[in-house]
Amino acid sequence: MRKLLLMSVAMASLALWAAEAPFRIAKWQNNAKCAVSFTFDDGLLDQYTLAFPVMKELGLRGTFWVVGSKIDNPAGFRSKVERNTPTMTSEQLKEMAAAGQEISSHGFGHAKLGKMTNDEIKEEVEKNKKFLMEKIGVKADTFAYPYNTKKNKAGESIVEFVESLGMVGSRTSQISLGNGRGEKAKARIEKAKSNGDWLVFMTHGVARGYDSFKEPEELFVLFRWASSQKDDIWFAPFRECAIYEKLRENTTLEINEEQGFFVITPHVANLDAALFVGELTLLDKEGNVVAAFNPFAGSFKIPKND
Ligand SMILES: [Zn+2]
Repeated sequence: MRKLLLMSVAMASLALWAAEAPFRIAKWQNNAKCAVSFTFDDGLLDQYTLAFPVMKELGLRGTFWVVGSKIDNPAGFRSKVERNTPTMTSEQLKEMAAAGQEISSHGFGHAKLGKMTNDEIKEEVEKNKKFLMEKIGVKADTFAYPYNTKKNKAGESIVEFVESLGMVGSRTSQISLGNGRGEKAKARIEKAKSNGDWLVFMTHGVARGYDSFKEPEELFVLFRWASSQKDDIWFAPFRECAIYEKLRENTTLEINEEQGFFVITPHVANLDAALFVGELTLLDKEGNVVAAFNPFAGSFKIPKND
């Protein structure tokens, strides 16, 4: 009983502190209402020729998860499902990376990880990481599971294991975009605006190939609508959202006062500063954006207004 009483006193003072804290971390960058990542699988050529030009024009950045063994490979994807879909070249991928698109890893051979041991999975993941660094010059620190298989041969989840291989995150849930789902996507985004979610959309083929759109225009209509929502929604590559989310979840703010200033000292638990490179958005009590800060960079001051 006494313990319970103490606990409720502690919780009440915590709530009071939370209500009165002069600053807090925004849920998403720049205090956007929600976050949205457009992701593309398999490195298919249409993603470069059709999706990328429209994204560039609208200032939308997304994530392209590619398969090393299919890059600069005229054979492309040859299975029945993939319907002989050609893939991108390293020059095209470099151009997209330079334009701010995330180019990252979908495994070197699009292998069925569910038939592999952890050692084999490690090799498959690390081979693609090395290849993408050498060929494209990107870190490839996010991962999309081929066939969305997230278990190994022994039936154990591999998410934690794969993420421990130098990843800031991996795609563990997604919303498919192809094949007439454009209107539904708009409704999902509207809903996310009210609950603060991070939505990860998944696209394969654009005009042809697996799960492609009936008309590529369906994707472009969604892109154009999305770009009109930029004030409310943070559209960003998967890695930027993953970094923001992990930094936010692991950072606490120590706030002290000094003549005329608040001194804010962020404390980050359990994250590798070399891997999680990014900034968090600081809000004041009223929810106004006051600053962007790197939580690993130590204390900083905010002048008091009164
Ligand atoms: Zn795939």
